[in-house]
Formats: sequence, structure tokens, C-alpha cells
Amino acid sequence: MIVGFSIFEKLKNNFDFNKYNKIEIIITHLHNDHAGSLSQFILYIWFVYHKKVTVFCNCEKIKEYLDITGTTKEAYELKTNTNFLEFIKTEHAKELDSYGFKLNLNGKTIIYTGDTATLDPFIPYLDECNEFYVDVSKSGGVHLKFVDIIETLRKIKSRNIDIFLMHLDDKNYIANLNNNEFYI
Ligand SMILES: [Zn+2]
Ligand SMILES: [Zn+2]
Repeated sequence: MIVGFSIFEKLKNNFDFNKYNKIEIIITHLHNDHAGSLSQFILYIWFVYHKKVTVFCNCEKIKEYLDITGTTKEAYELKTNTNFLEFIKTEHAKELDSYGFKLNLNGKTIIYTGDTATLDPFIPYLDECNEFYVDVSKSGGVHLKFVDIIETLRKIKSRNIDIFLMHLDDKNYIANLNNNEFYI
């Protein structure tokens, strides 16, 4: 579940949280577009549904982040690696420690880069991967630049791994990707 700053209303309006016994959130890093609704969401679930949220996060400042946003301590449980989840340290913005992860879910192994400027930490995990979620962008910088990794992604895809591209938000650029040589 992504709890970026724009996500809270969508979660609130589209899910009946009575139906779920467990509510678990994985946080890769503390940029606002990934964790901006976290406190609000935890408090909402606690006060409206009387349920405790489990937050999986390896970031150094997660506890401080939840404290300064006034998140009631009883409303959540904080965890890091477990038997089905392993965080993978990567490089993203210099201000934050950032992680991707390996998740075993419903018999599948998912590798998720989170926001990242490099594919390197994830390559050793691909042998056991069924689905690979990759952060890409048009121009690079703190994200991977799509055109720089397209050949690598084609090779990964040829190993029977399904690839899902994330974080692209330029509509015109996406439209072009769908009908020219960028097709993977
Ligand atoms: Zn980020
Ligand atoms: Zn981001």
C-alpha cells in the first residue's frame, strides 16, 4: 500500500477496512509522495476502525517521523525484516536512507526497487524473482533514467520475469513509450 500525500482520500473512499484483519504498510523511504499520509492513515484506522496498523520500514528516522506527526503509539506497530519481507538498501536522494524490498506474496517473489538511482543492489535478487517493480523516470537524477536501463530491462524480461514500471508521471512521455522503440 502506498501512503503518499495524495493517497489518503483514495484509501478512505475505496476500501472498507472492516473487511481486513491485518493492515500492513511497507515504507521504502520518507519522501512525501511515499509516506505523506502515513500518520493520518494510522490515526484514521485507529480511531474509526479501532485497528492497529503494522508498518514495515527500515528507515533510520521512521520512529521520529511518526512521533513528530503526533501518531498515537498504541495505533501502530513498527517492524523491519520478517520471514516474508527483506529490505534492500539502495541509493536515491542524499538526504534520506532509501530501500527497495523482496516480498514473498501468494507464492510469488516480488522485487520492488522503491525510488532508486541504481539497479545494482537488486540484480543479485533477480534469480528468484517473478515480478520486478522498477522506478523509472524521463530524466534521471535521483531516479533511474528509463532510456539508460532499457537494454538491461529487456534482458531481465527475457529471463521470464514480469516487469512493472513505476513513478512515470509525464503523460505525453508515457504515450510515446507505448508506440515506439522504447517498447520492452
Ligand atoms: Zn523519493
Ligand atoms: Zn517518489
